[in-house]
Amino acid sequence: MWRIPQARLSFLIRSTYDTLPSPSNLCLWYGSEECCQLCNAPNPNLQHILSSCKTALTQGRYRWRHDRVLRKLAEILEVRRAESARERRPLKLRRPIHFVREGGGATKITQPQRSALAGSCDWNLRVDLDRQLRFPTEITTTNLRPDIILWSATTRAVILAELTVPWEGGMEAAHERKKDRYLDLTAECREAGWSAVSYPVEVGCRGFVGTSTQRFLKSMGVTGPKLRNAMKVLAEEAEQGSFWLWLRRKDQAWGKQGS
Ligand SMILES: [Zn+2]
Repeated sequence: MWRIPQARLSFLIRSTYDTLPSPSNLCLWYGSEECCQLCNAPNPNLQHILSSCKTALTQGRYRWRHDRVLRKLAEILEVRRAESARERRPLKLRRPIHFVREGGGATKITQPQRSALAGSCDWNLRVDLDRQLRFPTEITTTNLRPDIILWSATTRAVILAELTVPWEGGMEAAHERKKDRYLDLTAECREAGWSAVSYPVEVGCRGFVGTSTQRFLKSMGVTGPKLRNAMKVLAEEAEQGSFWLWLRRKDQAWGKQGS
């Protein structure tokens, strides 16, 4: 923790416990009145500033933070995609034969969870970073743009992931909303003869990574120290983005951010 710059550490702790000097807290503490500098809502609280200000939304502030986290998630998946291409071995070599002594009972051997990327070395990865993503037409045609598409033509498998960086209290709602949004699309992929799975994943805007994200990474074969590191990277990216949004809460202009 001591490697985090003091100002960010202070933000991290105070945002978690909602003790930052948001107008809503200032009102509570000192009876002062202040509007949101972006949308004029009276006495906005931290949740308003970090995740529900309409003006911040239309200016692309939340999208900017979302894309920072998405870029990191895509980097993690790209490493896995490249690894899985090298890992490919004939299936029969993967399961060792276990001999049982005469009269002895067979001990149950738990196989490590097989990564969803195993069994094919032609996975493609497409990420909707510039809002220009086109769904691969070889699978199906749709106007939907999931954040992440992984697909393998040889095994006719497609994996969709949709990232949300919500206020932590809204994680479950975000998960259900995104799950519903991609139900039809996965059904269409299946009708076209592809196996399709969709993963709504959440990284809370104050740096609490949702279990959905952990499950997704695990099923992609990111495990052990790599998983722990991935979770840390994603958490930091969300939290740093929110810190920046907090610092800029009174700046009405929002240009293109450098990084
Ligand atoms: Zn506002």
